[in-house]
Amino acid sequence: MTRVSASTRHDPVVRRMEVKQTYDTWPDGRVEPVTEVWEVICPQCGDDGRPLGALRVPDRPDLRKLRGPYREQEIAIAMAQAHVAEQSHRPDT
Ligand SMILES: [Zn+2]
Repeated sequence: MTRVSASTRHDPVVRRMEVKQTYDTWPDGRVEPVTEVWEVICPQCGDDGRPLGALRVPDRPDLRKLRGPYREQEIAIAMAQAHVAEQSHRPDT
């Protein structure tokens, strides 16, 4: 697991998922192997790390969107960082 930020209120975790699908077809018809899949979990948003289908907060499309999955760790980290930046701009409630 990779901690993206330790100092803000939202502290998403980038986690490598089990690869279930070994090949993926691209829009142009290419078939490429899937070697890694990553997801982003934000506990501060209420994500407890369960599989996406078993989330306690099924009515949170934003959480599901943040989860991914992403094909590359860099993309997942970028999404996590964008989430942190987005949340830190919100006023305190
Ligand atoms: Zn969050």
